[in-house]
Amino acid sequence: MDLITHYVGGKSVPGESGRRGDVFNPATGEKTHEVDLASIEEVDRAVRTARSAAPGWRATSLARRNEIMFSVRQVLDAHRSELAAAVTAQHGKVLSDAMGEVARGIENVDFACGIPNQLAGRYSEQASTGVDVYSIRQPLGVVAGITPFNFPVMVPMWMFANAIACGNTFVLKPSEKDPLASVLLAELLSDAGLPDGVFNVVHGDKVAVDAILAHPEVAAVSFVGSTPIARYIYEEAAKAGKRVQALGGAKNHMVVLPDADVDMAADAAVSAGYGSAGERCMAISVVVAVGRVADPLVEAITSRLPNLRIGDGSDPASEMGPLVTREHRDKVASYLDSARDQGGTVLVDGRQHERYREGGFFLGASLVDHVTTEMDCYRDEIFGPVLSVVRVDSYDEAMELVNSNPWGNGAAIFTRDGGAARRFQFEVEAGMVGVNVPIPVPVGYFSFGGWKHSLFGDTHIYGPESVSFYTRGKVLTSRWPDPSTSSIDLGFPRNH
Ligand code: NAD
Repeated sequence: MDLITHYVGGKSVPGESGRRGDVFNPATGEKTHEVDLASIEEVDRAVRTARSAAPGWRATSLARRNEIMFSVRQVLDAHRSELAAAVTAQHGKVLSDAMGEVARGIENVDFACGIPNQLAGRYSEQASTGVDVYSIRQPLGVVAGITPFNFPVMVPMWMFANAIACGNTFVLKPSEKDPLASVLLAELLSDAGLPDGVFNVVHGDKVAVDAILAHPEVAAVSFVGSTPIARYIYEEAAKAGKRVQALGGAKNHMVVLPDADVDMAADAAVSAGYGSAGERCMAISVVVAVGRVADPLVEAITSRLPNLRIGDGSDPASEMGPLVTREHRDKVASYLDSARDQGGTVLVDGRQHERYREGGFFLGASLVDHVTTEMDCYRDEIFGPVLSVVRVDSYDEAMELVNSNPWGNGAAIFTRDGGAARRFQFEVEAGMVGVNVPIPVPVGYFSFGGWKHSLFGDTHIYGPESVSFYTRGKVLTSRWPDPSTSSIDLGFPRNH
């Protein structure tokens, strides 16, 4: 049985806690690896290693740090396939989707390669007579990231790319369900020339997370995961005086107005509802069908489901893979029973799919019509391939529904009416909005984040907001009465 160990100070570090977790190939249901689960002492050692590396990394010139970020970009680019294969092997998503995840992750490294521009401060000459005022941004020190199972490459990159480019050192605690990709990332960063101790990985569960939250040397915590844990992380980190951003779960609505192109809306609902088996925080989980569009839309979605190719993610023919664990698959499937018991119409039950009865953690694409806000399948984040359809009579009713939901990650509208789309943009309470785009994940040079129960904290993740998150501002006011400090140097000016 292969063992996945921690990665600290530029090398693999076997666990000493005596505790390990099981890791499965979701496509076969077989246990393929064990992962070390860190103790409080092991987390402390990782943080202290990152702490020791921090002064040197911070003092490394921006020119050199940037050179290393470019090298990181090059090495990651050259290993896209290995990273994607590691994702598919333990998360289960199909390879093409995993390649998409890696690409969207590398976007953050692209952004980080432009960090000198982001870190540049402002300068006001002669703010007072002979006095100049200027602002700079400095790294925080050791920062930590705690990540979910559903994007084992991309979400760590959302965090560490800018964190280290800004001059911090990083401790990653990835999901214990699919930890392989994080170790591969760590090795690639070392290969790219990142100094030892700048990027470290400790595997673990609540014990490791709590140790990070309590550690006095950890200055900031980025978290992405479910809403109850996000709230906990936010509260505990804030109590410990840390800077914290904690992104939580979601219930993303796709409002389809009567004038929408039905085929385009149905394609979008199927792609965004069942891609990655619904295990995306930006997946569409509720289609809100307004007025007369409901019947043709439901028919169009239903007709597409038998054609979805569900299978092992490593098979290039597969479009949708299994869920991450058997326990999660069974919980997702249980919403089909509760939906039926609570008055919904289960039009397609994924348990009828042939793969459901095989060894892996498969569930076929499932569709529930006539869903109401009282049903469990509407109230909970299912995080699986179960799409709900809520029928409403008007745009206003749709907006009331979306805005009454406690989550506010993404929301989309499908329409040909620019005025309706403009009104939706203005009124909807969500952090990321799509107009005829079902999964509006911002590009790497914007920032990502939801509203309400989808994000606890003040700043969104990656992009410009993460540069603020990972640095502290300092403003200087200076006077130089003695100007005689110059010397002659005819060499071409270089960065040192
Ligand atoms: P999770 O909350 O179970 O786990 C996330 C991380 O928290 C993991 O590293 C895990 O080890 C740790 N953790 C789990 N239980 C803990 C506890 N009791 N105390 C302390 N730490 C704990 O989430 P998941 O199942 O891995 O991921 C799926 C969830 O993540 C979904 O809710 C999804 O919507 C959300 N998510 C949100 C975003 C976003 O950007 N908002 C992105 C991806 C995933």
